[in-house]
Amino acid sequence: MNIALIAHDEKKDQLVQFSTAYQTIFSKHTLFATGTTGLRISEATGLEIHRFNSGPLGGDQQIGAMIAKNEMDAIFFFRDPLTAQPHEPDVTALVRLCDVYSIPLATNMGTAELLIRGLELGLLEWRKFVGKSSDKTDGQ
Ligand code: PGA
Repeated sequence: MNIALIAHDEKKDQLVQFSTAYQTIFSKHTLFATGTTGLRISEATGLEIHRFNSGPLGGDQQIGAMIAKNEMDAIFFFRDPLTAQPHEPDVTALVRLCDVYSIPLATNMGTAELLIRGLELGLLEWRKFVGKSSDKTDGQ
């Protein structure tokens, strides 16, 4: 499975701890992350992570592009609801694309625990059967 890891600054420590705790599960998958989050996690865990741009510099949109191409299977996005983000429109767009394509998305530790355990139990296997649509235009 292709999995994306993103955390806003105030939540980075949490996601680093989470990734460390579930390193064994994450190591069985292909990992992607926004720039700083990916650096923090790979330094802490040694996990191999493909790093995109930092979130405010387009990283969220790069992950969104993978969703639109049916190349992303689950997202752990630890959002900080108490701090204004300069790239809030990108954040909203990413969450929206997850809803458009029914991509499992955990935005806090509580849901992340469920998602990672679901991943471990193979509950996301249905993602392998979601076909790529050859035509994603709006028909015009
Ligand atoms: P960062 O981006 O991992 O580069 O800090 C995360 C974000 O704020 O979207």
